[in-house]
This record gives sequence, structure tokens and C-alpha cells, in this order.
Amino acid sequence: MKEDKLQKYIESLIPPRQGILAEMETYADEHRVPIMEATGIETMLQILRMKQAETILEVGTAIGYSALRMAFALPKSKIVTIERDKERFSKAKEYIQRAEKEDQITTVFGDALEVVDQAGSLGPFDVLFIDAAKGQYQRFFELYSAFLKPGGIVVTDNVLFKGLVATQDSPTKRIQNLVKKIDHFNHWLTNHPDYDTVILPVGDGVAISVKRGEENE
Ligand code: SAH
Ligand code: MG
Repeated sequence: MKEDKLQKYIESLIPPRQGILAEMETYADEHRVPIMEATGIETMLQILRMKQAETILEVGTAIGYSALRMAFALPKSKIVTIERDKERFSKAKEYIQRAEKEDQITTVFGDALEVVDQAGSLGPFDVLFIDAAKGQYQRFFELYSAFLKPGGIVVTDNVLFKGLVATQDSPTKRIQNLVKKIDHFNHWLTNHPDYDTVILPVGDGVAISVKRGEENE
């Protein structure tokens, strides 16, 4: 949704990142690492601040950009983050070390579909952030929401997939298939009896789901 004028305007108001974060953005750009878009991440960080999140589980570390953004925005929080790509994982470890955030961020190497017990044992979590393979969103949600506290929040990135979920004009069969899966996930999520969900048209589309607790059932 980059072409959107309002989105561009809002983006222009976001102060540029400095130091290691700016460096990571350049690296991501040059190596085609799909880090979260500026308006999307600012929205997520603001919600996390309002929540005063103390424990966060991220599915999809990539090079550790969003994990570090969360760590800086919420200095008292603990973050667990999962990545299956070796090269990205080691890059993430390198950046986290350079930022001196190893005490705050625990990195887990492996396929999120397989390291559930390991990552889950580090919970329970106030926030679950899903930002990995789009075709698996429902699986990630089902597996990891078990470790979410009542009243906890699930943030899911890329749920509007460059607007393709609304326009249905995918360039390839593979993308069309992915669009179908995301569309299916969005319907499933917004009708989930245990969660209240809103989809925000920021970044690449961000879903915010709040787990019902005893007090809001
Ligand atoms: N959250 C990051 C961007 C993540 S990009 C940021 O905003 O900075 C998505 C990442 O998820 C990729 O690096 C990819 O390797 C990883 N990924 C995809 N499927 C995965 C899975 N099943 N288990 C673990 N990591 C996965
Ligand atoms: Mg994303």
C-alpha cells in the first residue's frame, strides 16, 4: 500500500532512525529482507506501549530489526524471537549483540512449527507477533496463542498483502494461492470466538487481536 498518499504523508512524519537501526534498514533494503514497513511498526510499537507489554513472542526474526525496535521501545520487556533461516538468524544475533540487547532478546533457531515447546516454555506472553510465512498464519496462531495470557494481544503483519486481498488481481498462481490463504485467515481470525480483532490499513496491513479474558467474555 506504498502508493497511498496518506500513508506516504504519515511516513514522512516519522523521524528517521539513527545508528544501528538505520544500518539495518539499509541492509534489509539491499538484501531484500522484508522487515516491517515504517507505519506498520510504529503502530505496533504504540499498541505495545499502551499495553505495557512485558513478554513478547515473535515468529519471524529475519535480521532482528523488529525485535530490536520492540526492545528499544519497551526497555523493560523480554522478547523471544524465532527464525529458521540460518543466514538471517546469524545476522540477527550479530545485530542484537552489537546493540547490547542479548539480555533482553532470546533468539530461537528453527522452524516455528517445530520449536513450539522450546519457545512456549519461555512464556506465557503478553504479546504474540506473527510475521513469518504467510501460508502458515493460522497454524502459527493456533500453536502459539496457547502461550498467550488472557487479555493478551496478537499482532499479525502483512494481512492485506499489498492490497491484493481486496483486488484479487494476483500476477501469478503462486501469489494468488497465497492471497487466498491470507483472505481465509482474515475471515477465520475476525470470526474467532476467543478474540476481538481489528485490521488496520497501515504498512502492509496489520491485524490486532485481543484475547478475551474472564472480564471481557
Ligand atoms: N519481523 C521481521 C521480518 C520478518 S520477515 C522484521 O520486521 O524485522 C519473515 C521471516 O520469517 C523470514 O526471515 C523467514 O525466514 C522467517 N520464517 C518464515 N517461516 C518461518 C517458520 N516457519 N519458522 C521460522 N521462521 C520463519
Ligand atoms: Mg511482515
